[in-house]
Amino acid sequence: MSFEADPRQGVMDRELVKNILDKVGRDDRYTKTPLANLTFENLYNKLQPQEVELIIDLLAIDPKTLGFMGPFVTMENPPRDLAAIEGQQYTRGGENMIIANQYAPQRVLDAFQKMKQAIGDELQSDLLIESGYRSPAHQAIVFLTYLELSDFNIRYVASGVALPGFSQHGDPVNTALDVLNQDGIPTDEEPELFEKTKEYAWLVQNAGKFGFFLSYPRDNPHGVKFEPWHWRYSPV
Ligand SMILES: [Zn+2]
Repeated sequence: MSFEADPRQGVMDRELVKNILDKVGRDDRYTKTPLANLTFENLYNKLQPQEVELIIDLLAIDPKTLGFMGPFVTMENPPRDLAAIEGQQYTRGGENMIIANQYAPQRVLDAFQKMKQAIGDELQSDLLIESGYRSPAHQAIVFLTYLELSDFNIRYVASGVALPGFSQHGDPVNTALDVLNQDGIPTDEEPELFEKTKEYAWLVQNAGKFGFFLSYPRDNPHGVKFEPWHWRYSPV
């Protein structure tokens, strides 16, 4: 009889997670080091063997054991046609905020730009990309960033952050984008308030014309919390 270690326990080493994030960088909308293109090869090259083991444990977790019921997407390396969105800005509390460069496949970005133009024309408003394409290795860093922020409440993290391979942000064709309005909503503190914005109301009515669809409405079957800001490019 053999006993396999539970990979969910393997990622709970606070010090190793801190070391990994100190080396690679934590994920937030102002991160200066772009992580979108990170490959597992790049990532492992930065890490000590024990830290690599922790990432391997992360990849071994079955998301269903954490309540995530969404389908596997891909573990592929980043696509070659990623385009950058640079210098996006918004103002909050009188302060000018600059979002770190975001990336998306060119055709996804083209569709987004058309939608942004329309929302500008019709609402005299703006729509920004807070988070675009993220490679599966980048997603590993996102997951660990939120694991640390949540004081290692892994089930809670899994209700809002996909495990590597299961994120629609890593889909090189039907890429998901997290959007932000010109007031910087959704905020990290109260993200669900995006539902109350005029931009959200507009998106519900119009995003489908541009090929974007809400992935995680309330009570969705994927076990993911309501994400009014997360729109997936899936043209019909
Ligand atoms: Zn998202």
